[in-house]
Amino acid sequence: MPELHSVVCMKVVPKPEEIRVDPQTRQLDRLNVRHEFNPPDMNALEAALVLKERFGGLVSILSMGPPFFEPYLRAGLAMGADHIYLLSDREFGGADTLATTYTLAEGIKQIGGVDLIFCGEETSDGATGQVPPGLAEWLDYAQLTLITEIDLDLSKQRVRGHRLITGGYEILQTPIPCVISVKTGCNEPRFMDYRIKPWAFSEGRVTVWDTSALEADPDSIGLAGSPTMVTELAAAPSRERQRIMIKGSSQEIVQQLTNLIKEILH
Ligand SMILES: Cc1cc2nc3c(=O)[nH]c(=O)nc-3n(C[C@H](O)[C@H](O)[C@H](O)COP(=O)(O)OP(=O)(O)OC[C@H]3O[C@@H](n4cnc5c(N)ncnc54)[C@H](O)[C@@H]3O)c2cc1C
Repeated sequence: MPELHSVVCMKVVPKPEEIRVDPQTRQLDRLNVRHEFNPPDMNALEAALVLKERFGGLVSILSMGPPFFEPYLRAGLAMGADHIYLLSDREFGGADTLATTYTLAEGIKQIGGVDLIFCGEETSDGATGQVPPGLAEWLDYAQLTLITEIDLDLSKQRVRGHRLITGGYEILQTPIPCVISVKTGCNEPRFMDYRIKPWAFSEGRVTVWDTSALEADPDSIGLAGSPTMVTELAAAPSRERQRIMIKGSSQEIVQQLTNLIKEILH
């Protein structure tokens, strides 16, 4: 039976409570904020590690981002991944989803021999959910999106995925290689293995590719490859919290509360 090679696309994102946008550049201010793995990407990694336990093979982590992503990504090695590929170059900066997916797809081609590409359903900072379908387009692979359960038959080179829908679930089937985006919370990501943590944070395998190593088309990456741009930023109006003290007997309180609820519903 062939060995399975899964690539998990993982993004390091600012902690939600610390997200700030630079009003001048209209870009996310990633400096001086604490970061974490994008939560559903942990579910994607867990799904890939479960398949590795069953079928053997390799799990690689792929990320596009600045060099400070590296120590965060090493936590993935401590969870059981084998190799990190970080696509990092100033030229990759300012990418919209088209340029991001182009660059990640070039990384996957360069890694080579990939059977399954795992993603989270969306990120907590960009939240477009466009990266998994974009990858599938650039690579001309099938895609299974928003998957909660995975059933792989490696000998038949096919994968089935469950997708929850109202009142039940769909079962989608496709040949591999393919792109799978997993639903947030579809599994319980494991903790780091403290026996392999020292290896992960010292000699663990990390490959950093810049534009030239990736042999990427300079017109398709970063700002140059991004046909969309942020032209305006507006703060969502925040509504003042209202507090109304209701006094009286229990019956009067219930009556006043009922009137208030009716008012809101009208
Ligand atoms: C118009 C526009 C302009 C932008 N300009 C900038 C900018 O100047 N600077 C900037 O930093 N960002 C910018 N962004 C944000 C940037 O495009 C996104 O961060 C990136 O394309 C990923 O999109 P997303 O976060 O919506 O991912 P989603 O599609 O929501 O993510 C789904 C999954 O894809 C994978 N994934 C997503 N991003 C990565 C990644 N980088 N590495 C590995 N896996 C990944 C993860 O598995 C994730 O769970 C811009 C976005 C837009 C729409």
